Amino acid sequence: MKYDAIIIGGGIIGASIAYNLTKQGMRSVAVFEKNYISSGSTGRCGGGIRQQWASPENCKLAVKSVHLFEKLDQELGFDTEYYQGGYLLLAFTDEEVEQFRKNVVMQQGAGVPVRLIGVDEVAAKFPFLDTSDLKAAAHCRTDGHINPMLVNQAYADAAKRNGADIHLFTEVVRIVRDRDRINSVITADVRTFETGVLINAGGGFSAEVAAMAGITIPTRPQRHEILITEPLEKFMDPMVIDFHHHIYFRQTKHGSVVMGYGDPHEPYTHNIQGSLEFLKTMSLMITKVVPAMKKVKIVRQWAGLYNMSPDAQPILGKVPGVSNYYQAVGFSGHGLMLAPAVAELMAELIVTGRTSMDISDLSIDRFAGRTEFKLEKAVV
Ligand SMILES: Cc1cc2nc3c(=O)[nH]c(=O)nc-3n(C[C@H](O)[C@H](O)[C@H](O)COP(=O)(O)OP(=O)(O)OC[C@H]3O[C@@H](n4cnc5c(N)ncnc54)[C@H](O)[C@@H]3O)c2cc1C
Repeated sequence: MKYDAIIIGGGIIGASIAYNLTKQGMRSVAVFEKNYISSGSTGRCGGGIRQQWASPENCKLAVKSVHLFEKLDQELGFDTEYYQGGYLLLAFTDEEVEQFRKNVVMQQGAGVPVRLIGVDEVAAKFPFLDTSDLKAAAHCRTDGHINPMLVNQAYADAAKRNGADIHLFTEVVRIVRDRDRINSVITADVRTFETGVLINAGGGFSAEVAAMAGITIPTRPQRHEILITEPLEKFMDPMVIDFHHHIYFRQTKHGSVVMGYGDPHEPYTHNIQGSLEFLKTMSLMITKVVPAMKKVKIVRQWAGLYNMSPDAQPILGKVPGVSNYYQAVGFSGHGLMLAPAVAELMAELIVTGRTSMDISDLSIDRFAGRTEFKLEKAVV
């Protein structure tokens, strides 16, 4: 069997690229997913969608994504629980305020309706927060959140309706390459599928997928833990991030609060075990910021992988020396929110060889011969 394009990975990135390839006219597209839709990082993620980034590249992609998210339910015919309740970033030190001030100028230049607001305004609008140590906050009303599993499924279903084949429980175990071309993939059940192009959307396993094609990429998996509480009456609109205590939290449509803590000392491994340490630290941090959480019950905890790149920005496009290999990897904790824009641009690149927005700064070439990078700091 032969496809024009094979995508490895049925998370949000693989599914959205499959949909956009078919939308842009590619005829035979297949996704190979070793488990099921959303079984990877996508189904484990926090669901946040924000445009408040420190790097102009992330910011531009996020702005484009929000424009696409705003009409996505209509386009895909699905209720994804997309909610533009805003995003509030808390600053607890003068250094953070200074960084926010710079970011806000850059973000406003990119068209993001973001404002730096004072402690009095935060206390008045968001009374659930303990503002005693707060210095300022950045607020963007068009940011928000979504149900990650629903939007992943919506893209996969739409791709399927457009003719794509979605092979679930089908692991790619070998990639056959002849000099500068990928010829085919071989699955765990020993079937061979030839392909015109190969797209690596392997999430936390992107480096392993690339290695099967003889390609080395600088992405590393890192566990991030997260939990959900019992449902509460609606008390908050925005998703909140606090880089100082390394936490984020939001209230879902049905009232539960989803929250995560990004351990700055977490090693790079594929471990996705939940830990007691996380429960303790998360509880300590959230109750500092939202004291009323002391009385709330946790219902469940889990973990997933961030696919980290050296500068915490995605790695998009081709690699030198392989003519028909593409990758959309290294999302470093923000792949869900960037997916609509990335998928449209990746499909343009694959179908026409050009993109309507310049993403060349995000190619793997930026790491060539360098050991130090300008790090995206706005990551929890
Ligand atoms: C706790 C947590 C919170 C997060 N919060 C947010 C957030 O609020 N907002 C946000 O934008 N992002 C968030 N993220 C990051 C986000 O989840 C990821 O960036 C995004 O889901 C990446 O999508 P993906 O499709 O690249 O990866 P995945 O969803 O992991 O999909 C990759 C798929 O590839 C499959 N695969 C791998 N190798 C093979 C193979 N050889 N053969 C077949 N299939 C294979 C895997 O099974 C997997 O399903 C969070 C992540 C975590 C862990």
